[in-house]
Amino acid sequence: MQIMDGKKVAAEIKDEIAREVDQIKNSGGKIPHLAAILVGNDPPSETYVAGKVRVCEEVGFKSTLVRFTDDISEERLIEAVRDLNKNPDVDGFIVQLPLPEHISEPNIIESIDPHKDVDGFHPVNIGRMVLGLPSFVSATPAGIIELIRRYDIPTAGRSCLVIGRSNIVGRPLSNLLSLKRYPGNATVTLAHSKTTNLPGLILESDIIIAALGSPEFITGEMIKEGAVVIDVGITRVKSDFTKSGYKLIGDVKFDEVAPKCSFITPVPGGVGPMTIISLLRNTLLASKSKRFG
Ligand code: NAP
Repeated sequence: MQIMDGKKVAAEIKDEIAREVDQIKNSGGKIPHLAAILVGNDPPSETYVAGKVRVCEEVGFKSTLVRFTDDISEERLIEAVRDLNKNPDVDGFIVQLPLPEHISEPNIIESIDPHKDVDGFHPVNIGRMVLGLPSFVSATPAGIIELIRRYDIPTAGRSCLVIGRSNIVGRPLSNLLSLKRYPGNATVTLAHSKTTNLPGLILESDIIIAALGSPEFITGEMIKEGAVVIDVGITRVKSDFTKSGYKLIGDVKFDEVAPKCSFITPVPGGVGPMTIISLLRNTLLASKSKRFG
């Protein structure tokens, strides 16, 4: 059994990006610039955005945080998005979700220039991804694909079960893994809460990607020997044994499942660290090319 160490791989990629930014600086090129729009002061969103800004600074990117109170109108937010679309210094930007209820997320996402949509949420990017064309792929699926690539995990002809069909994780992953390339060429099943016989599907799968958000849902007896298990789930539960008073639990019962696997990601330290790195990779890509590919 080999642990897929997302923390280590993410640190390697971060170094690669920082070296590339150094080269760009030394040759007098334009420093990549990521902007983030944050509406309101939802604590998890504050934490995510602060983390993104911090990592940008660590690799030498320029970063800008644009803040609004949660009573901002949809029209005013669209105007702010259009300003960033037009700003030649900003290579890519994100609008941190969720947005207040009176604002339509699809309207905001569709107002972003797809060439600056480094979150990969715009329908143009999703359509291009499904067709296998150059595009920005959203951070979590892109991070998982990169982890599979770096651990050289065979995917062609393998049966792959993705559990969870959200637009930001499960659905794009199921598309990416069925594309005619590596990583890809897998025979993919996309499961969700209406799926019947999920235990049977899990047992016959070579690769299982758990993205349902149900702590320790997958147990040892559910998987076959030699399976690859990628745990996307993160549930925060109270704990008396940590300084913060909580701990993060994945969708996989790690201690039982790991001994049966060929490869497995831990929680924390697996998929999580790869997510933010993918946003940096997309921003670097956006700064190098104003078009796709
Ligand atoms: P989501 O939007 O809540 O989607 C959950 C999906 O799981 C839905 O498709 C749901 O089915 C399905 N599901 C729920 N219970 C199920 C069950 N018992 N059997 C089969 N399918 C079931 O969640 P998400 O945003 O994709 O996130 C999933 C998990 O990944 C969460 O724990 C989240 O915190 C974590 N996450 C981690 C990262 C990271 O960087 N590591 C990034 C994003 C998300 P229906 O569609 O039928 O409702």
